[in-house]
Amino acid sequence: YKAKERGNNFQFYSSSLNGISVRKMELENGLRKALEFNQLMLYYQPQCSLTTGEIVGMEALIRWDHPEHGFVPPSEFIPLAEETGLIVPIGKWVLREACRQRKNWSKAGIADFPIAVNVSVRQFEDDHFIEYIAAVLEEMDLDAGLLELEITESIMQNLQRSSYILHQLEGMGVLLAIDDFGTGYSSLSYLNRLPIQKIKIDKSFVQEVPFLASQEMLVKTIIDMGLNLNYIVIAEGIETEHQLEFLRQNECAVGQGYLFTKPLPADQIERYLERNKSGIRF
Ligand code: C2E
Ligand code: MG
Ligand code: MG
Ligand code: MG
Repeated sequence: YKAKERGNNFQFYSSSLNGISVRKMELENGLRKALEFNQLMLYYQPQCSLTTGEIVGMEALIRWDHPEHGFVPPSEFIPLAEETGLIVPIGKWVLREACRQRKNWSKAGIADFPIAVNVSVRQFEDDHFIEYIAAVLEEMDLDAGLLELEITESIMQNLQRSSYILHQLEGMGVLLAIDDFGTGYSSLSYLNRLPIQKIKIDKSFVQEVPFLASQEMLVKTIIDMGLNLNYIVIAEGIETEHQLEFLRQNECAVGQGYLFTKPLPADQIERYLERNKSGIRF
């Protein structure tokens, strides 16, 4: 992977700059330009009911098409964007673009599944977060029930404020999901008091099925817990028929993963939806 290789070269020089990595500086500058020059894009990955095969959701995932490095993966630039605070304007762009796309799909008569947008803690902690969401929904004339926010367990670190924000979002009608469930430190007793409808089992657990019995048991336990506490449980990172079968047998409600499709740009997603009009067949 090209960007990584270059990254290593740049790391070599970092000592001469008092520990500031040139690669990082370059990416940071690049990221500012990316926003300005429309190099950021959203890809979309469907979420599929594991009982009916129907598409019940769509996650928006950011992509950066860098003029020299090609596609820089979010795992590389999102942490940097969080560190520098750039995640706030980037997050605003994502939110607006995702809502615009969802509205366009509504206009085109494409089924009314919500669009799921990833929100990092830094965005969530921004004083104008709620305001901005309300403004985008208003601008796009989008039903709040068509927007789902994926947050991580790390919001629990500031429980009082998070609880307040989440309840405001709930009041607006926005849907809420916990992403990467099981990898953070959430207290179940608090989680249960927050207005969250959905938990997403992290793909690191799903992908160990059937290779690690202990992880299999963990997935099973999360599904059971979710069912008992009335969450919609969604498994991410489904790659094999075997994993799909396991999840269906254990009554996991929804799934997402390469087995159905990789994330795709909007026009390709439209073709995917057209091909799978009557649902995915298992
Ligand atoms: P995430 O929200 O947990 O998203 C799931 C990741 O798993 C995505 O990686 C997706 O492409 C990938 N994935 C989906 N199905 C499979 C599968 O079957 N196998 C494997 N191996 N991977 C699968 P992606 O797009 O590289 O995004 C990585 C992370 O970057 C996301 O994890 C999310 O935390 C963050 N991210 C992506 N877009 C945004 C964004 O717009 N805003 C923020 N704040 N974070 C974002
Ligand atoms: Mg996510
Ligand atoms: Mg996830
Ligand atoms: Mg993740």
